[in-house]
Amino acid sequence: MTNRCIFCRIIAGQAEASIVYRDEFVTAFMDIRPINPGHLLVVPNRHASNLGEVDDNVGGHMFVVGRKLASALRHSELRCDGVNLFVADGAVAGQTVFHSHLHVVPRRAGDGFGFHFPPGYTRGTSRADLDAVAAKVRAVLD
Ligand code: AMP
Ligand code: ZN
Repeated sequence: MTNRCIFCRIIAGQAEASIVYRDEFVTAFMDIRPINPGHLLVVPNRHASNLGEVDDNVGGHMFVVGRKLASALRHSELRCDGVNLFVADGAVAGQTVFHSHLHVVPRRAGDGFGFHFPPGYTRGTSRADLDAVAAKVRAVLD
């Protein structure tokens, strides 16, 4: 718990939030600036600035709860034609609140949200390049 962290304060009941789900490991509440109505955040109860600091079991559980909430959104009366689950990990990845969290975003056709691709993005690359990159990632896996 850090006093300066808005998500820690929400979890401690010291800042207001519209809570949808809570268990021993995570809390889910409405994002204050929703992309669409129903936009939720799944947040570890214990402070972790980034994904690397989240315990493995809690990280896995964030996804379990994210799936449960995605299903709830699809079955709710909210409009939900699809769902994005995403994590911004690091400032350059778009993280603005440094208490790691999983976004659960209900999508509507034509809502205008989406990733944009950089200039020069190409849909394909050579198998040799893919294999070389795969080797670099494998080299540092535990
Ligand atoms: P990110 O940019 O991935 O770090 O996402 C942070 C999210 O937290 C943004 O979508 C904000 O709208 C949301 N947010 C910030 N402060 C609050 C708050 N007090 N209650 C609920 N959501 C918040
Ligand atoms: Zn925190």
